[in-house]
Amino acid sequence: MRRSWARLGMAAAVVVAVALFAAGRGDVVAALLLGALIMATGRAVFRGYSITKGPTGPPVDVEEEGTLLVFACETCGEQLVLLRKGTDVPPRHCAEKMVLRRIPAGGSGDPRDATGGLPSRGP
Ligand SMILES: [Zn+2]
Repeated sequence: MRRSWARLGMAAAVVVAVALFAAGRGDVVAALLLGALIMATGRAVFRGYSITKGPTGPPVDVEEEGTLLVFACETCGEQLVLLRKGTDVPPRHCAEKMVLRRIPAGGSGDPRDATGGLPSRGP
């Protein structure tokens, strides 16, 4: 039903365009076509931004014996310990994808102790 209304609308638009051309107002038709082209291009571009890369499956624990999985931002140095994974897409920070690193866990297993293996950004 919706499909037939769309065809009817397209047919009406073609009839109106032909009538405008016949009346010597081809510039109006050209402007409408150009506007439609610009609108279609904008919709196609911004549709890509609205598609989220959602979870690829149920969340799973990523605990590895003796190592910590840490997402690190190479721009500002922020680090996030990964305990549970819901998607394979890395998080973003400072508009860049964060890098996954395996860091040997020091004795206590406390994430605050896991500073080895990362470059320090001190002065
Ligand atoms: Zn950052």
